[in-house]
Amino acid sequence: MIIMKSDATQEQVSAVVKDIETHGLRADVSQGDFRTVIGLIGDERKISFDHLAMLPGVKEARMVETPYKLISREYARLTGESEHRIIKVGNVEIGGDKLVFIAGPCAVESKQQLFKIAEGVKKAGAQVLRGGIFKPRSSVHSFQGLGGAGEDEATEALEWFCEAGDRFEMPVVTEIRGESQVDLVAKYVDIIQIGARNMYDQDLLVKVARMGKPILYKRHFGAGIEEFLSFAEYMVAEDNKDIILCERGILPLGKGKSYTRYTLDLAAVPVMQKETYLPVIIDPSHAAGRRDLIFSLSCASVAVGACGLIVEVHHNPAEALVDAQQQITPDEFKELVMACQSIRQAIGNKRNGG
Ligand code: PEP
Ligand code: MN
Repeated sequence: MIIMKSDATQEQVSAVVKDIETHGLRADVSQGDFRTVIGLIGDERKISFDHLAMLPGVKEARMVETPYKLISREYARLTGESEHRIIKVGNVEIGGDKLVFIAGPCAVESKQQLFKIAEGVKKAGAQVLRGGIFKPRSSVHSFQGLGGAGEDEATEALEWFCEAGDRFEMPVVTEIRGESQVDLVAKYVDIIQIGARNMYDQDLLVKVARMGKPILYKRHFGAGIEEFLSFAEYMVAEDNKDIILCERGILPLGKGKSYTRYTLDLAAVPVMQKETYLPVIIDPSHAAGRRDLIFSLSCASVAVGACGLIVEVHHNPAEALVDAQQQITPDEFKELVMACQSIRQAIGNKRNGG
């Protein structure tokens, strides 16, 4: 990380960037109100920090040991940017003062189903509509989402999805399951979701980041927090800082019945909010895997400081084609929204790490 002097000229900044690039690294230039900070992207051992410190206009050149630095609060602090990034999508602010509720079906099943649920979640207090068009499934024999039937079917479902978003005034988010879907999906949606199973796919992360749209990025169920944040850095290194981190449960411990699909790691919320300026949300639906726990886990998520929730809602959960056991009704979702709002009010806007 290179901290430039407050009176460093543009030419001096450019000269430092060029020097970094000739050593085979990339530079992330962050121009704050008071000073410019340059983050190094790549193997820092390729360059001498003593050499960088001598360049004109450089105040300090320091090696940063953490595997993620561009997303660190320290980086934001140095450049004078906010230590809590607010991601604006339409009229919705993610990471701002208000809680954000993202809701909708696990999978888009039909136009009628989608519109019914979109109307229900909007009335209940959702600000963003979710719905899977390409579903990651364990079995090739189960419903793969409408996108699984082919490009025409995927396009049609994406059109309904945007239409529902427009009709009920909600930005929309859907998951891409692989690189081949990125161009198509990015044409339609407001936020691109990278699912838990793809957390480690660095080529996919880079490709999605380059679309320049906000990304809802889920933690893999076997990933440690440092690992999750390190992979998030791949997207910020592509100059896309609009990353929403999502905790959605990690693998349960031990043998025998585990009672939940995954174990919701609540502490990950305050921990990540201390480490990074990116907003953190929780998905209680995939963590619990059962509808009777969604209310409690949502309340707990807000209590630990999550910026928002992504919840699976279906007008007729029992009939849902995917994840029937964990979807809740719009009425249940409404109760959850009201309870979460009260908890948020009780804890105030005090955020983790100040
Ligand atoms: C989803 O949100 O539809 C989903 C499949 O979640 P996850 O990637 O967390 O399993
Ligand atoms: Mn699901």
